[in-house]
Amino acid sequence: MKNIKELLQEFKEKDYKSCVNLHIHTTFSDGKSTPEEILSQAKELKMKKIAISDHNTVEAYLHNPTLKDEIVIPAIEFDCWFMGCLIHILGYGIDVNNQELKSLCAKTKAGTEADIVRLFSFRHPKQVITAIHKAGGVAVLAHPACYWAFSLNTLVKRLIKLGLDGMEVFYEYRRHRKIIKFHSEKKVARIAKKYNLVCTGGTDEHGSLKK
Ligand SMILES: [Zn+2]
Ligand SMILES: [Zn+2]
Repeated sequence: MKNIKELLQEFKEKDYKSCVNLHIHTTFSDGKSTPEEILSQAKELKMKKIAISDHNTVEAYLHNPTLKDEIVIPAIEFDCWFMGCLIHILGYGIDVNNQELKSLCAKTKAGTEADIVRLFSFRHPKQVITAIHKAGGVAVLAHPACYWAFSLNTLVKRLIKLGLDGMEVFYEYRRHRKIIKFHSEKKVARIAKKYNLVCTGGTDEHGSLKK
């Protein structure tokens, strides 16, 4: 059987534009659709793989046995502080019952809500990446163009030392949540290639998959 890293390496840019979306939020964080709604939208659209990656929580998986579906990759999006930036790290293919991973999850609903509410993260990327690995997953830097880092290259290089496996490369840079972009799409792709990182993609969906 393929491991999660091999599976992620199979998806290319064209898949992320059509049938794979590995960055989706639900009502278990600040998204508008329930996990069941997301799953049925994905089935209607005949998507190959999706990942529900709520902020700092795996509750969607714990409450919805229907997510044990072959098209779903169990995931999470953690906040952490690093080099003066609030960064987001995605974990893919995780065991959602792993205790160490759960210990880093939000303790209150507020810890899963809108970005502005979650500015004070207690997590360090080393803890987050280690916990994702212990839960059998791979750690991916989310929407890298958003970080107010003097050098994205240095930020990524230091995260790789802590075990980072991949970078979210394929997403809608310009439309991505109206957040200011500090780095270009080209630069992100170049850095991912330079360090041979797994390249993932997703829309950071907070609404419906059906447009
Ligand atoms: Zn994010
Ligand atoms: Zn997100």
